[in-house]
Amino acid sequence: EDAPQFNAGKGAVFNAKGGHELDASIMEGHTRRAGAVAGITTVKNPIKLARAVMERSPHVMLAAGGAEAFADTQKDIERVPNSYFDTDKRRQQLDKAQRDEAAKGKREARTGDGDAPTYFGTVGAVALDAQGHIAAATSTGGMTNKKWGRVGDSPIIGAGTWADDRCGVSGTGWGEYYIRNAVAHDICARVGYRGDSLQAAAEEVVNRIVPAAGGDGVGDDQAVVSGGDQQELRVQGGLSRHDFLCVDVLHIKASFIFVVNTRLPLSEGKRVEIRVITELFGMSPACGAP
Ligand code: ASP
Repeated sequence: EDAPQFNAGKGAVFNAKGGHELDASIMEGHTRRAGAVAGITTVKNPIKLARAVMERSPHVMLAAGGAEAFADTQKDIERVPNSYFDTDKRRQQLDKAQRDEAAKGKREARTGDGDAPTYFGTVGAVALDAQGHIAAATSTGGMTNKKWGRVGDSPIIGAGTWADDRCGVSGTGWGEYYIRNAVAHDICARVGYRGDSLQAAAEEVVNRIVPAAGGDGVGDDQAVVSGGDQQELRVQGGLSRHDFLCVDVLHIKASFIFVVNTRLPLSEGKRVEIRVITELFGMSPACGAP
């Protein structure tokens, strides 16, 4: 969220009014606790507020003004003016989206470069700790030029984020399709109820069911990464452009499997660091030194 390259926190996409409304959620698998916030405008790190909802409120999801009011009661939740989230790159994307929309006369929530959407960069993470517990979290600015308080899949438990006691998913893509297909939960349900492998379940849902419904499908700008040693996670090959950060305790051979956006400087054999979620939960890493 603090890195401007990602569509979350600083660097989040602009909505149609030239501002930012941020969504985030977090789920702890073995307890099924969850917290989510939607339409956030002044919280520097929405995922921390989602965690506060999970841990310090009786609710799962708080939205817009109510979520901001809850943030007012939380001393450790840092606030910023909405313009803090601005970046030139995202401003250019909004300008282009609005020009394209005007040219096409389209009134759809989704905008971008047609087949090459400009909204990549939602941040997601799944962690497996030394006790075998899984947690998943997702944070996003949503989609460029979104209107009318639109909320995507990222703060919806079961759509953009899910964790149970053996499978966790954090997704990115065209949120409306992820909501309609309960994507994150469906992947874990296939693993849990049918014994599908994690890869087969993710492939079926992300690369077949969602595209068949009209959403985003297979891309080639991401790569599957796995490893048994936190210090040595290696790129294994391309899968899809959706960031899936999944752990399947029963089937997994490595300690981590996840998909990263290869627009990051990631190449074969390059070391990747996983720290965010373990810090967030105060968990010890599943393997290796932190
Ligand atoms: N899924 C997000 C949303 O629809 C966008 C993204 O992942 O890029 O809000």
